[in-house]
Amino acid sequence: MMGNVSLRGGVQRRRSNLCAEIASGTASPRNDTYINVRIEGAGIAGQVLHRELEKRGIASSLHDRVSFPREKVCGGVLQWDSWQYLKAAFQISEPVRLIHSVSHFWRGKKISNHSLPEPMVYISRWALDETLYSRQRSSSLNDPDSLRVNAKGIPVGAGGEWIGFQAACDPVQDLEMHYGRGICVGISPTLGPEAHLAFIVKRERFRNAEDLKKILWEELRLKFDGPLKGTGRIHYGYSRESLAVGDAKMVTFPFLGLGMKHAIFSARLLAEKISTDEAQVYDRTHRHVFRRWRLFSAFIGAIYDSPFQFLLRPLIRNRALFFWMYRWLHRDGFGVLNVLC
Ligand SMILES: Cc1cc2nc3c(=O)[nH]c(=O)nc-3n(C[C@H](O)[C@H](O)[C@H](O)COP(=O)(O)OP(=O)(O)OC[C@H]3O[C@@H](n4cnc5c(N)ncnc54)[C@H](O)[C@@H]3O)c2cc1C
Repeated sequence: MMGNVSLRGGVQRRRSNLCAEIASGTASPRNDTYINVRIEGAGIAGQVLHRELEKRGIASSLHDRVSFPREKVCGGVLQWDSWQYLKAAFQISEPVRLIHSVSHFWRGKKISNHSLPEPMVYISRWALDETLYSRQRSSSLNDPDSLRVNAKGIPVGAGGEWIGFQAACDPVQDLEMHYGRGICVGISPTLGPEAHLAFIVKRERFRNAEDLKKILWEELRLKFDGPLKGTGRIHYGYSRESLAVGDAKMVTFPFLGLGMKHAIFSARLLAEKISTDEAQVYDRTHRHVFRRWRLFSAFIGAIYDSPFQFLLRPLIRNRALFFWMYRWLHRDGFGVLNVLC
């Protein structure tokens, strides 16, 4: 379909102009709806957007630069509500590992163990992304006038100061979070004999895998076997791009464990906005809905490797403080999203 496109309600509108209006923030709400969306990136955010648009009767096509299953460096720990959503939306029947408590370690010493009010869920990203991909009712639309959405994950060459890694390690009983200077590690129990270890480390702290193993041992008293898989540089921040979901829109500090949850909710939010012909206000709404996550993430990122890192210690040590922070972080976003989605 070229040139002017037919939009539901019989209104004609040139979509490429609209995209430019959205990008520049000059678009005004209109009473018409897109009929075709091109989603670039088929990770969690892209898949959820595709599915939510389909639910609302809007055609979309998914495009990824790699074929699935594909490797994705991730801790693989989902919040309970994210898991409930994915399970129902994509009819996931595979067993998962439930996590009922979290232990925190500060420079190698255990400082707390909190039982969780509701379980978290470990799922291998390889398996999860493949399942989502296989549930896709693919459409091979290739309309040059489609509304384009960026779901490509962390921008390549973002020039960030952190790098992510994952590896297998000795089994653990509950979720373990280990904090050190310029490094933050999460270890999750899995359904297999080994635990899943994922961490971020400041780029300036190492040159090669041997350095990493040394830091993990000297700083955190952790050892791991087997190959180490890494990712590109990560910058924890907010994108200026209007029509973006998941990490392409906002990368949260992994300390918060909100990456996949944000991917899901931002995609649901955008689907809702597209279906009500309000894509132009998605950017503003996103900023509002996720402002706590954004601000807290920036705060944690700034403080984590500063001389004030010790300020985080009471927060993770004290159960009441920890869960107060958790609830505070989730409160606003949830309220708004529950209404919208
Ligand atoms: C070490 C580490 C541990 C983490 N642990 C957790 C955790 O335990 N829990 C949690 O919730 N979050 C965690 N996260 C964050 C989480 O992985 C991300 O927030 C989440 O994967 C974002 O999903 P997404 O769909 O936006 O991006 P992705 O899952 O990265 O998907 C993006 C897709 O876009 C594709 N793509 C890229 N470029 C192009 C292109 N040019 N054209 C087409 N396609 C393209 C990619 O191939 C990919 O398939 C962790 C991150 C790291 C680095």
